[in-house]
Amino acid sequence: MKKAIIIGSGIAGIASAIRLKGMGYDVSVFEANSYPGGKLSEISVGSYRFDAGPSLFTLPNLVEDLISSTGKSPSDYFQYDKRDVICNYFWEDGTMFSADSNAQTFAQEAANVFDVEASQIEAYLKHSEKIYNLTSKVFLESSLHKSSTYLSLETLKAILNIFGMNISKTVDAVNRERLSDPKLVQLFNRFTTYNGSSPYQAPGIFTMIPHLEHNLGAYFPKGGMYSITQSLYRLAKDIGVHFHFENPVKEILIKNKTAIGIRAAEEVFADVVVSNMDIVPTYKKLMPSVKAPESTLTQERSSSAIIFYWGIEKEFPNLDLHNIFFSDDYQEEFKAIFQEHSISNDPSIYVHISSKAKKSDAPDGCENWFVMINVPSNRGQNWEKLIADSRKSILNKLSRILKVEIEPLIQLEELLTPELIESKTSSYQGALYGASSNSKFAAFLRHPNFKKKIRGLYFTGGSVHPGGGIPLCLLSAQIVADLIPNPHYD
Ligand SMILES: Cc1cc2nc3c(=O)[nH]c(=O)nc-3n(C[C@H](O)[C@H](O)[C@H](O)COP(=O)(O)OP(=O)(O)OC[C@H]3O[C@@H](n4cnc5c(N)ncnc54)[C@H](O)[C@@H]3O)c2cc1C
Repeated sequence: MKKAIIIGSGIAGIASAIRLKGMGYDVSVFEANSYPGGKLSEISVGSYRFDAGPSLFTLPNLVEDLISSTGKSPSDYFQYDKRDVICNYFWEDGTMFSADSNAQTFAQEAANVFDVEASQIEAYLKHSEKIYNLTSKVFLESSLHKSSTYLSLETLKAILNIFGMNISKTVDAVNRERLSDPKLVQLFNRFTTYNGSSPYQAPGIFTMIPHLEHNLGAYFPKGGMYSITQSLYRLAKDIGVHFHFENPVKEILIKNKTAIGIRAAEEVFADVVVSNMDIVPTYKKLMPSVKAPESTLTQERSSSAIIFYWGIEKEFPNLDLHNIFFSDDYQEEFKAIFQEHSISNDPSIYVHISSKAKKSDAPDGCENWFVMINVPSNRGQNWEKLIADSRKSILNKLSRILKVEIEPLIQLEELLTPELIESKTSSYQGALYGASSNSKFAAFLRHPNFKKKIRGLYFTGGSVHPGGGIPLCLLSAQIVADLIPNPHYD
C-alpha cells in the first residue's frame, strides 16, 4: 500500500487525509498540538464553551461532499441549520438592521431602513452571483498552476467576461457605484474581511463574496463550529487514518528531487508528503535548503484578530448569532491595519454568540460572547498596549450602543492575539487567511498546491491556493487530491 504523510491537522489537513485514504493511500497525520483542527478549535472555560476561531459557515455541501466521498452518510457525522438572520448590524447613530437570509426580504427590509430601492439591492446580489458563477470553477476549484485549467470552457467564459468583474476597481469603488446609501456600502464592504483584506484595496471581483451568504445561505453546525473538526476527525479515524498528536514535523526529507518522508519524533518514509503547515514556515523551517519563492512568500499577509472570549452574565434579546458594531470611519480602520500596521481608536466590533444557537454553550441567563476586531498581522508591535487600548474602546462602544455597561457583566475572560495564533498554529505573522487579497494579482501569487521541482510534495490549507477560510481549505484539499497520482491507476 502506498503511504502518504500529512503535516498538520488543520481542516485542510484532515480533509486531505480523508481524500487520500479514499484513493487507497495508507495515511498518517502528524500534528504539533495535542488536538486536531488548528484554527478551527474550541475552548471551554468554567461553564462556557467558545469556538476559538471561525464562526461564519457557508457552503456546508463541501463538508457533506467530503463525507459522501468515503461512502458514509453525511447526516451520521455532521448536522447543521440554516440561519434565518445573517447578521445584526449596529451603527453609532442608533440605526440597527437585521439582515434576513431571504434575498427578497433582505432587499425589501433594507429599502425600508436605508435610502435605496429594493431593486438596487436585488441587482447588486445578482451581480454578486454572476461574478461568483463565472469565477469559482477557475479560481477556487482548480489549480491555477496547471495548463489544463486554462484550456477549459469555464476559463474561456471567465476571460470573455473579465471586464464585468471589476478587477481594476476596488470593492469600495464598485459598492459606491452600485449602492446609493453609505451604510449599505459599508455593510457590503465588510465582506472583504472574509479573506482578511481591505475593501479600499482589494479588487472588485470580491463583490462576489456576499453571494455566498445572501443567495446561498448562512449556516451553523448544530454542535457549534468545532463540530466540523470533530466530525471530520471522527470520519478520518473511522476509515483508518492514523493520527500522531504532539508530534511536530521538523524536516521534510528530500532525496533526488523527491519528497521521501519526514522527520518528526523519528524519521518516517512515504510516497507522498502533504504540508498543511503555513507555506512560509514550511519552507523556512522544514526545508531550509530548498530555494524558496521569495516573491510569493513575501506577499503582504492578511489581517489577524484580537478576540476577547467573555462569559456575559445577562441575555441580550436584540443580539443574534452574528452581530457587527460598525465604526464611523471604516476607511481609517483599514488604513490603520494595512498602512500603519496598527489599530484605529474606533474599530468595528464583531460579536459572535454561539449560545444563541447552542444554548448549552453558556449557563442559564448568560451568553458566551466572542468579541473580535480585525488587526494587522504580527510584526512585533507593542501588543500589550494595543490590546489594553482596544479593550477600552470596545467596552465603551458596546456600552454606548447597547446602552448597558458591559464590563460589570463579564464573568470570565480569555484572549486570542496575533502572537497566540502564530504560536498555536504556526501561521506566519498570525495571519488568519495567509496572504491578503489586497492586490489584483493575489490569486496568482498564492503558492501552488504542488512543488514543480520536488516530486511527491504537495501543499494544502489557507496559506496556499485557493486561499483561507473553511470552504476554500476544503477545496484546497480536493485540488491536492486531484493532483496526486491515484494508486489505483498506477
Ligand atoms: C480568529 C479566526 C477567525 C476566523 N473566522 C473564520 C470564519 O468565520 N469563517 C471561515 O471560513 N474561516 C475563518 N477563519 C479562517 C479559518 O480558520 C482558516 O482559514 C482555516 O481554519 C485554516 O485551516 P488550515 O487547514 O489552513 O490549517 P490551520 O488551521 O492553520 O492548522 C494548521 C495545523 O498544522 C499544525 N502544524 C503546523 N506546523 C506543524 C508541524 N511542523 N508539524 C505538525 N503540525 C504542524 C498546526 O498545529 C495546526 O494544527 C478564521 C480564523 C481565525 C484564526
